[in-house]
Amino acid sequence: MTRRALCIHGHFYQPSREDPLTGMIPREYGSDPYPNWNEKINATCYLPNAQMGNFAKMSFDLGPTLTRWMEKSAPGTLELIAAAERRNWAQGQNGNALAQPYHHTILPLASRRDKVTQVRWGIADYLHTFGHAPEGMWLPETAVDLETLQVLAENGIRFTILAPWQAAEPVDVTQPYAVALPDGQSLAVFFYQSDLSTSLSFDANTTINADTFIQGHLQAAYSAGTQDQLILLASDGELYGHHQPFRDKFLGYLLNGALHQAEIEYTTPGRWLAEHPPVKTIQICERTSWSCAHGVQRWAGECGCTPHGVWKRPLRELMDTVAELVDGYYVDLTRGWLTDPWQARDDYIHVLLGDETYPNWQSDHVRGELSTAGSVVLQKLLQAQFERQRMYTSCGWFFEDFDRIEPRNNVRYAAHALALTQSAWGVDLLPQVEPLLPLIRSARSPLTARQVFAQAMCRFSENTEPPLTRLF
Ligand SMILES: [Zn+2]
Repeated sequence: MTRRALCIHGHFYQPSREDPLTGMIPREYGSDPYPNWNEKINATCYLPNAQMGNFAKMSFDLGPTLTRWMEKSAPGTLELIAAAERRNWAQGQNGNALAQPYHHTILPLASRRDKVTQVRWGIADYLHTFGHAPEGMWLPETAVDLETLQVLAENGIRFTILAPWQAAEPVDVTQPYAVALPDGQSLAVFFYQSDLSTSLSFDANTTINADTFIQGHLQAAYSAGTQDQLILLASDGELYGHHQPFRDKFLGYLLNGALHQAEIEYTTPGRWLAEHPPVKTIQICERTSWSCAHGVQRWAGECGCTPHGVWKRPLRELMDTVAELVDGYYVDLTRGWLTDPWQARDDYIHVLLGDETYPNWQSDHVRGELSTAGSVVLQKLLQAQFERQRMYTSCGWFFEDFDRIEPRNNVRYAAHALALTQSAWGVDLLPQVEPLLPLIRSARSPLTARQVFAQAMCRFSENTEPPLTRLF
């Protein structure tokens, strides 16, 4: 008998909001009565969905910057989510959580080395949270190029989810496809059903009642064919209870009653793939995403998605300049110490997660003995690498204006990366980025990156704390 299945994928994510010096989230505007947005969204979405058991039956990815916050500030929520996933894993039904690159970086705009670090750090966070290796990875903004898929496969990832327009030719979205990779391997790709995913996300009338949703919308998405069919719907996870009230309950009833009555099974990509390996190969459109009709231009410069985006190109130039400086000094300074600076960076995440001790990490990566002073310099350079990764958080480029918390935070992280490198090396690096700063400016306020950068550098120079060796 032909099987009809539905998979709801929720992308649950919040960017880093922590002050790089204190590790704490400052009080945020608009989140009343909660001290910040993470607390508010936990109360309206993450916790109620976890309590309702929705994380056991949907497919989801939980961004590492969100899981780190949850572990510290909402441990009960994280435990419910992780326990639901672990039960699925233990029952041999495949895990239903996907990993996510650590800092939600737009990977097609990143160097290969940064792609590798983001993917490995994301996998490390997943292991820390769920206790087993991930099968799939959600790409930030579903932004893709072939090199990104190659890096996923090299790190043990078997599948991802893309928008149908990211395929180079028309696709049957009810079937998974294989993408052939340069090294001869392949990676499976699921394409989400875009019309229904859009209705689910943006037309509240569609999701008032789960039975009506199935009869009025979902049933029509299946064809009369004789193949098993999977409809995969992708949405931001915060939709369910935060962006739209009561949609946590809609999801709960959909997965725990309504689908069963309509003889549609719920599934997850890993489980479906085990029974339905791809039979067709497809090519992807390079440098495309789910939320910019202009490829990945939204995160690189001006495009029609956000008018007045003239500040975006210099912001990216600033980050690339900081990255080059920070990396150059990291490699130069550690040449005699580290056996492989990039493998050392990739593995340092285990120290930050508390899964590895610093002495153990040091014995794996440092040649011979390092003095105490040398060890402090090395830790500063490693923390600079962490800040230089998180300054590429995609949210910094997503919106229309520079005068928002997201781009300001990215600039603060960049300043912190530069200040740490400066203090490790004892030179003034500011003149090398200064010409770019006034070009990054708000259209609606007098704010430029010069003020944000200078303020962050100044606060850093007054700080006497040693570099952090744990994220929390
Ligand atoms: Zn665009």
